[in-house]
Amino acid sequence: MPLAPYACHASRSRGRRVFEPAAPTRSEFQRDRDRIIHSTAFRRLVYKTQVFLNHEGDLFRTRLTHSLEVAQLGRSIGRSLGLDEDLIEAVALAHDLGHTPFGHAGQDVLDECMKAHGGFEHNLQSLRVVDKLEQRYPAFDGLNLCFETREGILKHCARRDALHLEEIEPGGVGARFLLGHQPSLEAQLCNLADEVAYNAHDIDDGVRSGLLDLEQLATVPLVQSYLKEALAAYPALQGKRLLAETIRGMLSAQVYDIIDATRSALQAAAVADVEEVRQAPALMAFSPAMRAASTELKRFLFAHLYRHPQVQTTRMRAEQVLRDLFRIYVAEPGQLPAEYRESASANDIPRACADYIAGMTDRFAIREHQRLTGLTLF
Ligand code: MG
Repeated sequence: MPLAPYACHASRSRGRRVFEPAAPTRSEFQRDRDRIIHSTAFRRLVYKTQVFLNHEGDLFRTRLTHSLEVAQLGRSIGRSLGLDEDLIEAVALAHDLGHTPFGHAGQDVLDECMKAHGGFEHNLQSLRVVDKLEQRYPAFDGLNLCFETREGILKHCARRDALHLEEIEPGGVGARFLLGHQPSLEAQLCNLADEVAYNAHDIDDGVRSGLLDLEQLATVPLVQSYLKEALAAYPALQGKRLLAETIRGMLSAQVYDIIDATRSALQAAAVADVEEVRQAPALMAFSPAMRAASTELKRFLFAHLYRHPQVQTTRMRAEQVLRDLFRIYVAEPGQLPAEYRESASANDIPRACADYIAGMTDRFAIREHQRLTGLTLF
């Protein structure tokens, strides 16, 4: 399918912060995707927690498999809407690069530790990874990605942070948060595909872990309808296959819903190009009914999975690991590796410590905590 006029066209990219000549065979967005896959931060995603800690089981999602699922859903929807699949893939694979070890628990602790030093936010950190922290090129820090990829990676941004970004990069990726504009459709799509992916895989992992069961899940309307559908087609179905068939039904319904709702919104808004997309209200969306259903499922997962006592216990230990690490590194920057120590001598020790900790995998953080404190929390 040819690219739609409202898609991001790589040939019309706003470009990279440091100029580079075009590649002979690859589009600019393909190049970005390739750079992300070869980055160190990308490889670390395999050992970072989504909801369950990496060592709790081999079959739970990690940040890496989550990111691959977001890319799959995004590309599948994007292709039928005529969007740029390479850009979608690049944004999806990079969207969680700034996540700390131990999932959201880690982000909250680092934010609390960094309160007096500008805070910590994982979306901003993802941008910081691709703009600054990756050290792979002789001529620049980071991966020097295109504006459109960076725009998609920075999903959310507080006004204070947007003002700061605007100072360093006027009219750059912070500007839309000050102007109230949207990002490209490819970026809007990755955001929505993220939600579809984690709602579905957290149900799967939740049941697999024994923290949720299907009867309980059947009280959630979105799950209920596809559970009923699966049982109507296969009355004897149970266990793993019933769960998989239910989730498959949910995923398909959400994908088609997004495609239909977005097509109608695009038609009504009659946007001619990506600039008009940015100035229009958000066009990539669920139908109102699916939006309500997805929000209700999220609420259920929040109450029954993310706040489950067992998940909470792990969360508390994870918080202690990161809080201790931060305290120790700030007090003894000599414990940091050389490259972080160098940036710390440039007068921002807490930020260097946060960068180092945020980059850790779950198991590295646990080992490092053990080495520095002598405590075994996991
Ligand atoms: Mg995500």
